Amino acid sequence: MTILDGKKTSETLKKEIAEEVKQLKAAGKKAPHLAAVLVGDDGASLTYVGSKVKACEQVGFASTLVKLPADISEEALLEEIAELNANDDIDGYIVQLPLPKHIDEQKILLAIDPAKDVDGFHPANFGRMALDMEAFIPATPFGIMELLKRYQVPTKGKHVVVVGRSHIVGRPISILLSQKGAQGNATVTLTHSHTPNLAEFTRKADIIVMALGIPEFLKGDMVKEGVTVIDVGITRLKDDTSPKGYRIVGDVAYNEVSPKASFITPVPGGVGPMTIAMLLKNTLLAYQWKDL
Ligand code: NDP
Repeated sequence: MTILDGKKTSETLKKEIAEEVKQLKAAGKKAPHLAAVLVGDDGASLTYVGSKVKACEQVGFASTLVKLPADISEEALLEEIAELNANDDIDGYIVQLPLPKHIDEQKILLAIDPAKDVDGFHPANFGRMALDMEAFIPATPFGIMELLKRYQVPTKGKHVVVVGRSHIVGRPISILLSQKGAQGNATVTLTHSHTPNLAEFTRKADIIVMALGIPEFLKGDMVKEGVTVIDVGITRLKDDTSPKGYRIVGDVAYNEVSPKASFITPVPGGVGPMTIAMLLKNTLLAYQWKDL
């Protein structure tokens, strides 16, 4: 069994990106610049944005945190977005989700300039990705594809079962794995909460991508020997024995499933760190594509 080590792979990726930034700076060019918009002070969102800003510093990017109050109006937020679109110094930016309920998330995402949409959530990028065109791929599925590539996990002709059809994970990874190309050419089944007898699908799968957000949902008796398992799930479970007061649990019952797996991602240390590294990669791409 091989552990797909996202922590180690993301560190390698960040070193590669840092090297490119060093060369840009040595040539007298500016560093890529990522901005993050954070509305309100939700604890988890603050942590996520904090790690993104820290990662920027690690690779030598410039970063800007645009922190806005939870009661900001939709109109005022749209003005901030327009400013970020117009600011030539910023190569890419993200709007941390979820947004407060009084703001129409879709309206905000549609206002982001697709050329700066390093989260890859704008329909222009999603459509381009689905059509095999150059696009910003959402960081989590992009990270999964990179892990599969770096560990040379075979996907050609394999049966992949994706559990979860969200716009940011399940749906895009199902498209990417079914596309032509080295990490694609798989036969993909996309399942969701209306799929009856899910275990009948997962037991037949060569590769399973779990992205539903229910801790330890995938049990040992739901997989076959030799399966490859990608666990995207992140759930914080209360744990008084941990200094943080919680522990992170994935969608896979790791102790039951890993003995049967040929490749598996751990949680934490699997898909999570790859997601941040791929956001940096997308920012570097935004910087490079601007000059084309
Ligand atoms: P969503 O809540 O948007 O989607 C969950 C999906 O799971 C839905 O499609 C839902 O089906 C499906 N689902 C729910 N219950 C079942 C069930 N019993 N059987 C089959 N399918 C089911 O989640 P996200 O995709 O945003 O996130 C999924 C998990 O991944 C979460 O734990 C999240 O925290 C984590 N995550 C991790 C990231 C990382 O960097 N590692 C990045 C993004 C997310 P339906 O459509 O029918 O409702």
